[in-house]
Order: sequence, then C-alpha cells, then structure tokens
Amino acid sequence: MFVYWGTRRVRRRAGRVADCCPICRDLTAWRATRIGVAGHLYGVSITKGALVGYELQCESCGLSRDAEPDAFSGFVRDRDADVASLVAATHPGVERANAALLAEGRRIREGRITRQERAALVLRSIRHLDNLLPAEVSRPAGRRRFRILFGIGLAVAVVSSLGLLNPSPEAGGSRSAFLVAWFVGLCLMAWAVFLWITRTRHCVRRRLQPLAVHSLKPLGPDRMELASALAQLAAEGSIVARHLDPAEMSDRIQEGVGK
Ligand SMILES: [Zn+2]
Repeated sequence: MFVYWGTRRVRRRAGRVADCCPICRDLTAWRATRIGVAGHLYGVSITKGALVGYELQCESCGLSRDAEPDAFSGFVRDRDADVASLVAATHPGVERANAALLAEGRRIREGRITRQERAALVLRSIRHLDNLLPAEVSRPAGRRRFRILFGIGLAVAVVSSLGLLNPSPEAGGSRSAFLVAWFVGLCLMAWAVFLWITRTRHCVRRRLQPLAVHSLKPLGPDRMELASALAQLAAEGSIVARHLDPAEMSDRIQEGVGK
C-alpha cells in the first residue's frame, strides 16, 4: 500500500499586529498568518506545526511580507482595535526602531519636504519595489495557477487525442467534439505558458503598481516628473520602472486628490 506522508507548511490566522509600513511610511495594522511546518499523512496535518515565522499583510496598502517568529509580543483578535492599542499589545518597540522612517512620513504628510527631497523620494519608492519583486514573482500562487491551468489543458488534450485515435463507431459526431476538446486543451496550455512568460509584468501591474500609487500619492509627482523618474530608473535597470505606465500611474495618483 502506498503511504503518502512527510512535512508541509501549515498556515493559520494569528490575529492582528502593529508594524511600520515602508509603503505607508507610518505605523499601521497588519493581518498576521502563522506559518508552521508539520507532519502530514495523505496531505492532512493534525497539528499547527513548529513555528517558522509569520506572513503579514498591511491593512492600509496591501503590502505583504514575512516576519520572524519572535517579531511580536502578542496578537490581537479584535478587528476594531486601533493602531495605538495594537502597538501596545503586539509591538511596543516599533516606534523607536523605525523613528527615522516615521519622521520622514510625518514630514511628507505635512508637506515639509523640498522639491529635491521629493524627487529623491519618488526614485527611492520605486527602487524599494524592485527589492520586493523577486519575492512577489516567486509566490506559490503563481506557480499553482500555472500548474492547474497547464494540467487541465494537458489532460483535456490527452483524453481528446485518445478519443480521436480510437474513434467509437457507435458514437456519431464524437470526432468533431473531440477535435473541439483537443483545441480547447491546447489553448489552455498556451494560456498557461503565456501567463508564465509574462508573470513579471503581470506581477508589477497587478501587485506592485497599487503599492507604487499608494507610496507616491503623498508625494504628488505630476505626469512629467513621474515619466522622467521612471525613464531614469529604467535606464538604471529597474524592472519595475520598465513595466509601469507613467500616464496610468499619474491618473491613479491624482484620483481623490483635492477632494
Ligand atoms: Zn502599508
């Protein structure tokens, strides 16, 4: 009898914590997911496993990142708890540890930055997203989507090929149905390969562009400044800058400004 066992990552909701967000440049609330490694039998884990860390998601901007097992002193289940109470209950030292970034965030929100500082901050914000890109591109969800789509397409193509090679005389009209199924299978495989090849661009446009808009909005660069910054960064080799559209970014940055 085949016994399927081993270890697997087990994700469990841990609660909410406070942390300093580099995109929001402020203390924000984060949703924390506990990551454990546990033994499994036939894919089923009974325990939550040995703690290896946490996955965090900023509730304000959506940024995801990992945290060490000892990063927080506790977790809060109350969905309405404000950031100040989350700091006290989960991360008392966060303000002191991130004093420089928090002070910069305050100066930006209060408009106390020079034009030169603003230009430098625009460049730095995009460069920061380039650092996030490898982790975003290698997320398991992207690989899972490719495998599922390609696997379904392959299965449909193989089954329909067998049907075409071994036609059943009593099933009239089945050949055209198998041909259609075979074509659909090929299309699904081609779509999976297309998504895989374009995953970097997809990741930048779907996951990093909203973060870029959130980060740049308080700085308020106009379309020309943004286009110039992205061109400079693209020339320096920034993959994120190469895939961002300055016109679309500018429109999104301007949304809601002045309301
Ligand atoms: Zn954030």
